[in-house]
Amino acid sequence: ASKIKVDINELIKKQVHRIKQENLTIKLNLEENLPKITGKEHIIEQILEHIITNAYQAIKGKGTIKIESKREGEYIKVKIVDSGPGIPENIKEKIFKLNFTTQKAGTGLGLTFSKESIEEMGGKIFLDNKEKETTFVLLFPLKTIKL
Ligand code: ADP
Repeated sequence: ASKIKVDINELIKKQVHRIKQENLTIKLNLEENLPKITGKEHIIEQILEHIITNAYQAIKGKGTIKIESKREGEYIKVKIVDSGPGIPENIKEKIFKLNFTTQKAGTGLGLTFSKESIEEMGGKIFLDNKEKETTFVLLFPLKTIKL
């Protein structure tokens, strides 16, 4: 697939629209006039979809999801925070592993795909938990390294 200029905020809004419902509070803090990323739009969209779907599943239809975007140097930083149960200490090491899932109908593919794809772009994904909240941080490079 070819690279185009991707508007991260637009992709975030699309995902938010998808999961919007009663009992679910979504707080958006999207930086205005964020520079666009040069990359494969469908890959970036799938990464956001996986992480936001995980947050959505974690709160089981009731709670808060916060999504933040901002420029940080040569990256666009996207933070996705959910008020779900959190990730137990003993499984934190495993969540990015292929086929690891704690969901009944889970595949354990989402985080593996997200990590591989974002790293291939020259970016990063990591867990940055504070207390009970689950926070995933995505760093998308403004200029992707691979063609
Ligand atoms: P799947 O969603 O199919 O389980 P993922 O690779 O997306 O696969 O996630 C792997 C596991 O990581 C999940 O089964 C869950 O245990 C954990 N996880 C991911 N995101 C969250 C989250 N926001 N809150 C709690 N646990 C999470």
